Amino acid sequence: MSAFLLFAACSKKQGERPEDFANDTFEFVADRFADIEIMRYRVDGWDDLSLQQKELVYYLSEAARAGRDIIFDQNCKYNLQIRSALDTIVSQYGGDKTCENWQKFIVYAKRFWFSNGMHHHYSNDKFFPECPKEYFDKLIDSTMHLDKAARTQLLDIIYNPKVAPKRLSQDTGKDLVTNSAVNFYEGVTQKEVERYYADLKAADTGADPERPVAYGLASKVVKEDGKVTEVPFTVLYAKQIQKIIYWLQKASEVAENDAQKAHILKLIEFYRTGDLKTWDDYNILWAEDTKSEVDYVNGFIEVYTDPLGQKATWEGLANFKDKVSSERSAIISQNAQWFEDHSPIDDMFKKKSVKGVEAKAIVVAQLGGDCYPATPIGINLPNSNWIRKEHGSKSVTIENLMYAYHKAGMKNGVMQEFYWSDEEIKRAEKYGYQTDKLQVDLHECLGHGSGQMLYGIEEGALKNYHSVIEEARADLFSLYYIGDPKMVELGLLPDTAAYKACYYKYIVNGKMLQTNRIKLGDNFTEAHMQNRALITNWCIDNDYDGEIFEVETRDGKTYIRIKDYEKLRKLFGKLLAEVQKIKSTGSYEAAKVLVEQYGVKIDKKLHKEVKSRYEKLNVAPYGGFLNPDFIIEKDGETIKDIKISYPTDYIKQMLQYDDSSKK
Ligand code: ZN
Repeated sequence: MSAFLLFAACSKKQGERPEDFANDTFEFVADRFADIEIMRYRVDGWDDLSLQQKELVYYLSEAARAGRDIIFDQNCKYNLQIRSALDTIVSQYGGDKTCENWQKFIVYAKRFWFSNGMHHHYSNDKFFPECPKEYFDKLIDSTMHLDKAARTQLLDIIYNPKVAPKRLSQDTGKDLVTNSAVNFYEGVTQKEVERYYADLKAADTGADPERPVAYGLASKVVKEDGKVTEVPFTVLYAKQIQKIIYWLQKASEVAENDAQKAHILKLIEFYRTGDLKTWDDYNILWAEDTKSEVDYVNGFIEVYTDPLGQKATWEGLANFKDKVSSERSAIISQNAQWFEDHSPIDDMFKKKSVKGVEAKAIVVAQLGGDCYPATPIGINLPNSNWIRKEHGSKSVTIENLMYAYHKAGMKNGVMQEFYWSDEEIKRAEKYGYQTDKLQVDLHECLGHGSGQMLYGIEEGALKNYHSVIEEARADLFSLYYIGDPKMVELGLLPDTAAYKACYYKYIVNGKMLQTNRIKLGDNFTEAHMQNRALITNWCIDNDYDGEIFEVETRDGKTYIRIKDYEKLRKLFGKLLAEVQKIKSTGSYEAAKVLVEQYGVKIDKKLHKEVKSRYEKLNVAPYGGFLNPDFIIEKDGETIKDIKISYPTDYIKQMLQYDDSSKK
């Protein structure tokens, strides 16, 4: 398809968000407590789906929510018991709800729901209510009719720091299994678990060593009559899985095509049998289905919570393709050769024939299990290496969540605090979301794939500097081209001023904002952070005549001004040529000099200033999302339409979910 046709298709803006991003009045922030912000996301493009697709998304959404109890129970064996108490108190307590103790109790309940249990979702540490135990006891007593002994026992689980202190222990000096509260093991030691799986693998003589099944992925290890054995999650959570199957069955009946129907039915087969070979077969069918517009994630997927890294938590997600954004990455990919040919690098480092990577963008309609409410904004599945190699994988970015993050970020005060003037803030409001996404696309679809190694030079020649140079190369490629008039010509940006939003953000972040995540006195060690510092500091240092940057001080605070964006673009191009040369020629020494001089050290005085300015802003370090609700419009038994509404009350959603899990 020609670029022109794509441009025409793009300008249709089917289901796109408001053209003027700054005037989007939807309220994205719903709640703020402890270290958490609860946001809302909007399901843009919903009205463009056919009724059949809407039904399909709806059934997959119900399937994504039906396993909610599983993740609570997996995180810790006490969680469902505590959750039931919290839900009862919150829905039934009739006493004073204005006092400080009630407020503290509510914060605990919200944190508990947010983390899907009693341990912090990120740090894995147990957290505690700030209201006194006696007060909590009174709440239980007045709503639950538990006797004194049962109340004492429950409160001990909640308040005693010695009971289940860590969900996941990473202290390799101790037994990882017995020191982790995660509910994957019961009455067994790390040694026993390891021996159990070693024996299991040894006994499986018919196994294909090239295509191993994921032993232990979906089971709990227990001791029965003194013998170590495992219970499949599909047996352990039969009640919830029955509900998941019910909704998947309905989804299969309105599938978009045979391939999609086949993998949904295969997933049902896995849930019925718990057979890991079937799980692999399902993943192959799912990975190979790249045609369907509606898609989902549902199953025991990620192993981050298991101290031994093999058992998976349950998660669910329903989504559909974001056509407009997917077109954007298609346009970029189809012009890959033009970008390569016009790159400011030396001709001998250019690829004669280059192909862009096409990534898919999706709109999520429902989050469930381990994806709710804290969720990733990108997905790359399946996890099995041999399936990825032989059958491919799906790499997607979740557009509507990125948008919600962007909109919420506009209001947290960071720009107002660190940006030089209204001009920069207004530009960020108007263009920031578009340029953010475009920069990521240019980096991922073209940046990493551009350029070539000189004959005989190996990819790994830069050793420990490989990652940072590689990230710098991809970032510089995207920075250079986002400022190219070609972006407007291809319809990827609205005008030639838009790129300035990206440049300003990049420099302020590289020089100041990103240091907030580093402890005072420490240096940059992570490759992406090093690369941003490298690019920023090199450009400031190479602005010999002071024509591009101005460092200003106002009320004792430091600000950066960019005076000439066009000249800054030329600097990005110059550094790109330099970095490409380092990579193509494998110059370890040159990489070392560049990275050590510009990408590692942090200006101590500025670092301290940034941290103290951030502290006053009280920005929540963690975020999560409220799910939208579906409104089914029926005529008798026939579904006529499905509409979406956006709740604002986190507590209400939690009580609603609790209600539906009892049915
Ligand atoms: Zn990268």
